[in-house]
Amino acid sequence: MKIIPNCTLLLLLAISLLATSCTKDGDLNVFSVEQELELGRQTDAEIRSMPGEYPILERSAYPQAYAYLQGMVDEIVREGQVSYADEFPYTVTLIDSDVENAFATPGGFIYVYTGLVATLETGDELAGVLGHEIAHAARRHATNQLTKQYGFSTLVSLVTGSSDPGLLGRVAGSLLSLQFTRSDEKEADDYSVDYLCQTNYAANGAAGFFEQIQDQPSPPAFLSSHPSPANRVEDINARADDKNCSTLTSDRVDFQAFQARVTN
Ligand SMILES: [Zn+2]
Repeated sequence: MKIIPNCTLLLLLAISLLATSCTKDGDLNVFSVEQELELGRQTDAEIRSMPGEYPILERSAYPQAYAYLQGMVDEIVREGQVSYADEFPYTVTLIDSDVENAFATPGGFIYVYTGLVATLETGDELAGVLGHEIAHAARRHATNQLTKQYGFSTLVSLVTGSSDPGLLGRVAGSLLSLQFTRSDEKEADDYSVDYLCQTNYAANGAAGFFEQIQDQPSPPAFLSSHPSPANRVEDINARADDKNCSTLTSDRVDFQAFQARVTN
């Protein structure tokens, strides 16, 4: 169904049923924060049930690599004053594959492919990518999109438990092929700068990453799943400059040790 573009009307209809929020853009998001987290858990379980498609590097087998990576996420979330820091786990998982990509599901579950780690040169670039993915979760881009894609009434039946039991799994499955809009991508880039500006990482780390991958002969997965305006690098650098953020490279040595542990 098509969503009536009148957020106020839908809010009035929904308010007795469940907690519903409109984003700052007037988008309707049918999911409560708790439901968003549950959807993330469901999707995480789905990912872990498909080791052929998502071969996960187990935390227990790579304790030092995970300590570095999770430490970076924790620092960005804490210093960057990321939304839902108390509600979402902001946990990060490594997927052992040549795919040059990273993604986040609702509720703050972040996934990074070792193929992407292999293309990076500094911890700042990794922090930039993580900041971008954290922003997708913190700004609730996926559930905003789902609300548009599935329609309001379908999702109301889902979140009130009156739908058929398979629907949540199908919605969780469709998250894995979700495309963000260009404005979501721009916002995630902006927030990556804003978060990193509060940390010791170079605030324009994400720009370094885009520079690394944009010269490749075939577009890496990150670009095919992330619409890429040509001026993305310039926009990130300009925002860091406007906000007087440090863009000095902070971490190369620790990153290279991490990279060596998870790639070969
Ligand atoms: Zn993105």
